[in-house]
Amino acid sequence: MSSASPDLSPRTPSSVLIVGAGPVGLTLAVELTRFGIPVRIIDKAVGRTDKSKAIVLWSRTLELLDRQPGGAAAFVAAGFKVDTVGFVAHGQPIAHASVSSAQTPFAFALMLPQSETERLLEERLEALGVTVERQVEVVALALRDDGVDATLRHADGRQETAPADWLAGCDGAHSIVRHTVGAQFTGTTLDSDWVLADIHMTGYPVPDTQVTIAWHEDGVFVVFPMSPGRYRIIADTPPSGAAHPPTPTLDDIQALIDRRGPAGMRAFDPVWLAGFRINGRKVSRYRWGRAFLCGDAAHVHSPAGGQGMNTGMQDAFNLAWKLALVSRRVAADGLLDSFSVERSAVGDQVLAAAERLTTIGTTKNPFLRLVRNTVAHVAFGIPGIEHAFAQTMTELSIGYPESPLTSGSAAGLDGPRPGQRLLADRPFGTGELPRFALLAAATEPALRLLQSYPALLEADLREPPDRAGAWLVRPDGYVAAVARSHDMAAIEACLAQVALSAGADPAA
Ligand SMILES: Cc1cc2nc3c(=O)[nH]c(=O)nc-3n(C[C@H](O)[C@H](O)[C@H](O)COP(=O)(O)OP(=O)(O)OC[C@H]3O[C@@H](n4cnc5c(N)ncnc54)[C@H](O)[C@@H]3O)c2cc1C
Repeated sequence: MSSASPDLSPRTPSSVLIVGAGPVGLTLAVELTRFGIPVRIIDKAVGRTDKSKAIVLWSRTLELLDRQPGGAAAFVAAGFKVDTVGFVAHGQPIAHASVSSAQTPFAFALMLPQSETERLLEERLEALGVTVERQVEVVALALRDDGVDATLRHADGRQETAPADWLAGCDGAHSIVRHTVGAQFTGTTLDSDWVLADIHMTGYPVPDTQVTIAWHEDGVFVVFPMSPGRYRIIADTPPSGAAHPPTPTLDDIQALIDRRGPAGMRAFDPVWLAGFRINGRKVSRYRWGRAFLCGDAAHVHSPAGGQGMNTGMQDAFNLAWKLALVSRRVAADGLLDSFSVERSAVGDQVLAAAERLTTIGTTKNPFLRLVRNTVAHVAFGIPGIEHAFAQTMTELSIGYPESPLTSGSAAGLDGPRPGQRLLADRPFGTGELPRFALLAAATEPALRLLQSYPALLEADLREPPDRAGAWLVRPDGYVAAVARSHDMAAIEACLAQVALSAGADPAA
C-alpha cells in the first residue's frame, strides 16, 4: 500500500446511522470507522446478548475479519476449531465430510458463541473510538432524497431527531427500518417445532472436532461441539400447536439423545435451553434510497448450515467499502446499487440451501430417507463432492459473477474468473480507504491506469496469477474484472463505472 495518500475528501465524509448493534451492525460499524466514515451506532437493548445463538464463524467471514486491525487472531484464539461432519443413520456412521481441504488460511469452522463474537467486535469498535449508544430506540424514520431523519427515544423517555446522510437497518428480524421502507418479508414459517440445547455432556463417541448429524425416523438430531465438554444440540420435534414453541427441559433433551443420538451420551449443566420455529423469509431488495437492510433485517432462515449470522456479517462487509467510497466522494452513488443486487442473490442462495438441508434432514418418507442415506454414503466418498461441500459450507464459493460490477473474461488465463474470490498472501482492503488492487505486469496500460485512478487503486501493482492477464480485485477480495495484459479495456470500463465521474477519479 502506498504511503502517498492523495487528499480525497475536501468535504467531510457523509455520515451513517447504524440501527442495531448485533453482530451485523457491529461489523458494519468497525468497517466504516476504520475507513474514516463518521458513524453513530445505537441499540434499544440494555446490553449485548448473553446468548450463544449463532455459534459458527465460517472461513470466509474469518478471512474478511482478518482485513481489520487486529485481524482474525482474537476470534480464533477465543473459539474452538471443528473441521469434520459425520453423518449417522439408524445409529450407524454412513458418511464423513471434512472442510480441511478448503483453500483458505482458516480451513475449519470456528465455534464461538454469538455473545463472544459480539464482545470481540464491540471491543474492536471501542478501540477505534466509537461507543455503542445503548437503550436508544428508533421509533420513527423519515427518508429524504439526500438523507434520513430518525426519531430516537432514550431510556429516560427523551426523544431526539437524528439526521444522517445514510441509514443502515441492522435491526434484526423485526426491523423497523424494513417496515418503514415498506419492504415485503416474503417466505414461510415451518410448522414443526425445534429445540436447542447448549449443554455439558459426557460420552460423545467421536472427537470433539466433529459435528454429528444423526438422521432418525423421528427427525434430525445434530450435535455441535462448542468447546471441550460443551455442546449445542438441535432437533426437530412434532408440531406442538402452541403459540410459542415450548422450552425443553434437560430431561426432554436427554430423552431425545437416548432415542436419536449415538448411545451413551449424558447431558448435564444446561447453559441455554430454547424452543424455536424456522422462518425462511427475505426482502427482494436491500437498498431503499438512502437506507439499506443488512442481516436478519433482510433475510432469516433455517439454522441448517449455520449461515445466518455469517451471511449477515458478509452483507456488512459488502456494504461498508462501497458506502465508504461513496461517502468519501471517490465513487458514484450507483456503486451502492450493486450491494443490493449482489447480496440479495447470495441471500436467495443461502435461503434455498438452508431449506434444502432442512427438508433432507427432516423427511419422514421411508423411501426418501433410504435414497438420502445411500446418496450421502456414496457422494461423500468422492473427493470432488467433498471438496465442493467444503467450499460451500465455508462460504468460500460465494461470488458475484452476475454483478453489474463484474466484467471481462479469464478464458485461457490461469487465475480466478470475474466475480470469484482471489486469495492473496496480503489481504485486500486493509488501508484507510478501501481501494481496488490491480494485479498486472508493469505494462504501459497498467501504469496508465494507476495514474488515472489514484484514489480508487492501490498505488502499486501486485503480482498477477498469470502474467498474460490482469486482474482488478475489489477491496473485499472479489475479482471485479479480468483482461489481457496488453488490452485493459474491461478493467478501465469497470473503474470508469465506479468512479464519481466517468473516466476519472477526484484525486487524479
Ligand atoms: C435461538 C437462535 C439460534 C440461532 N442459531 C444460529 C446458528 O446456529 N447459526 C447462525 O448463523 N445463526 C443463528 N441464529 C441467527 C443469528 O442469531 C442471527 O442471524 C444474528 O443474530 C443476526 O444478527 P443481526 O445483527 O442481523 O440481528 P440481531 O442479532 O437480531 O441484532 C439486532 C439488534 O437491533 C436492535 N434493535 C432492534 N430494533 C431496534 C430499534 N428500533 N432501535 C434500536 N435498536 C433496535 C436489537 O436490540 C438487536 O440488538 C440463531 C438465532 C436464534 C434466536
